Amino acid sequence: MAEELLRYVKLLYRRGHLTLLSGNVSVREGEFILVTPTRRPKPFLTVDDLVWIDLEGRVTRGSLKPTSEWRMHLEIYKRRRDVNAVVHTHDVLPTVLAGRIDLSALSEAEAYLGGGIGVVPYLKPGSVELAKATASVMESRDVVILERHGVVAVGGDLAEAVNRVEVVLDLAKATLYREVINKVFPDVRELSRP
Ligand SMILES: [Zn+2]
Repeated sequence: MAEELLRYVKLLYRRGHLTLLSGNVSVREGEFILVTPTRRPKPFLTVDDLVWIDLEGRVTRGSLKPTSEWRMHLEIYKRRRDVNAVVHTHDVLPTVLAGRIDLSALSEAEAYLGGGIGVVPYLKPGSVELAKATASVMESRDVVILERHGVVAVGGDLAEAVNRVEVVLDLAKATLYREVINKVFPDVRELSRP
């Protein structure tokens, strides 16, 4: 489980979803949660750097401090028994577009993000308020945008959660590209009509 978590963290970093020190990932196993540590460069993380916490937030194994967003991960797991993986990224484009992201811009997106994309107003990173607000919106959604902050995606496993992060970025790109292209090439739609 720890090895798999690390593989996904490094994949997310290489693909630009996480920055060196920002963003965090966790998985649930039974009554315990394995999370990334705070303030450690993502590409150099080892299995020993990961931290186990219980559902009260107490560290049960590991020598480092858990991510500063551990409360957010916990709150989500408490409210969503179907969720076993939580990914929090600092993807810039989805964050900037937030509520403007158009779910219908890519036909396949709805299959992965059926409940739509929630938006959580700006709240201090790492705060109890952010943890509760995010978990509350995620009771009915698998992806939320935290205004001026980042993206949170959940899934039954890491593959599902990470895929949702990728789909949200693709949707954000599609939404922006479509708007720009429509402005730059205003006649194209006219020409392509039957
Ligand atoms: Zn963050």
